[in-house]
Formats: sequence, C-alpha cells, structure tokens
Amino acid sequence: NRQPMVAGNWKMHGSPKSINQLMDALTEQDLEALTCEVLVCPPALFIEQVKRLTNDKIKVGAQNISEHHKGAFTGEVAPDMIKSLGCQHAIVGHSERRQLFRETNEQVAQKVKALLDCQLTPILCVGETLQQRDAEQTMTVVIAQLNAVLEVVGIDAFEQLVIAYEPVWAIGTGKTASPEQAQQVHAEVRQWLSSHSEDVASKVRILYGGSVKSENAAELFGQKDIDGGLIGGASLKADDFYQICKSAG
Ligand code: 13P
Repeated sequence: NRQPMVAGNWKMHGSPKSINQLMDALTEQDLEALTCEVLVCPPALFIEQVKRLTNDKIKVGAQNISEHHKGAFTGEVAPDMIKSLGCQHAIVGHSERRQLFRETNEQVAQKVKALLDCQLTPILCVGETLQQRDAEQTMTVVIAQLNAVLEVVGIDAFEQLVIAYEPVWAIGTGKTASPEQAQQVHAEVRQWLSSHSEDVASKVRILYGGSVKSENAAELFGQKDIDGGLIGGASLKADDFYQICKSAG
C-alpha cells in the first residue's frame, strides 16, 4: 500500500510576494482532507521562506542538488544545505536539467547517491523525448536512466527513492500522456524493479508528470501503477494544485 504523493515543481517562477500569496492560498485549503503526501519545490533561494509559510501537511523540497557535498563549486547547492533548512526531498534528473544543462545519466546517479548519503529522498525523473518515443525507444531510454542509478546505489536503495516518469513531449506542452500510455510505462518500470526485487517494486512510488491538470489528474492517478504526480504549471495555482492533490487521495 503506497501512499500517493503529489509534488509541485515551481521551476524558475516566483518572487517573495507571489510566494506569500501562493502559500497563503494553499494553506487556506482543507489540507486535513488530504491523505496523499504533498510536496512543493520552490527555487532554492525561496526554500526558507516557503518553510516559514507552510505547515506540517505541505513538505518543501529542492528542484536540483549538487552531487558534491562541499567545495569549490560556484553556484551549486549541497544536499546538507537543504537538509539544514528542513527539507527531506530533492528532484534529480529533471529533463530540463538533462537537456538544457547537459546532465548525464551518470551525473544524475551521483546526485541520487549524494542525497542518499544525507538520508534525503531523491525524486528521480526519467522519460523519453518525442523522437525517442516515435523510434520506439521509450523503455530503452527509461531503463538506461534507471540502470545508471542502480549501478551506483544498488537495488535496496531504490526503496528510499520516488521515481517520476515524465515524458519530455508532455512537459509544458498541454499534451498529456493518455492514462493508458502512462500506465504502460509505469507498469514496465515496476516490472524492471520487480526483476531486481519484488519487495522494492511493491513499495516504490512512481509519479507521473507532464501537463497534469485538475481535469485529467483523477483518471491518471486512477491507474494501477501511478502513485501520484509531479506537477509543473498547475502547481503555481493554489486551487488547481489542491484539486490535483485531492484527486490523488
Ligand atoms: P507541466 O506540468 O508544466 O507540464 O510540467 C511538468 C514538469 O516538468 C514537472 O516537473
């Protein structure tokens, strides 16, 4: 029995003022009615502000993290730094990091390891581009992304991870994967986990991300292997985000 999770990835949006408004609107919702785990991931600079404005029901995480623990890495943020602000989670390997900042599967695996070293929960993003899907390489790509992490941390560590399947063609495009398309990949990811450990496969949450809205969330989250969502655009609107959380349970 996996507790569903809904995580908001705010990406590079927000100001002290807009974040005050968003957190006010969010904490006004009936959060006690939610049984899912709720997480918001603001730009690192605003984590402390969001932490101050939140309550126990909404956790706060980072969008990215360094694979290093300290040192001469200008502009980077180490896992222990977010932990010291009270965060337990960080997104790693988002497709925007992979594509725009050239993060490799190996580097993403090192980031997962660095978080686990600090007892933090990585939300590991995987997913294929449209070109890869059209070439029927979806599972080859996704499994290569997972295998790179497996090689570094081993299967038992996957119990500490949340996996997010985010087809790149569905991110910010308004083009959601159909519930069947998403479920198929989720099932194959779980199958891959099972081939290494049945126990781990039954415990790991696999979130779907890519144009999730209040209108399509319930159907996506209703699929057997979809354990919640990673939400971009819609997580910036309190009503929409709350409705999506409600759809998850
Ligand atoms: P959208 O929900 O805006 O498509 O973004 C998805 C995403 O990238 C979440 O990490």
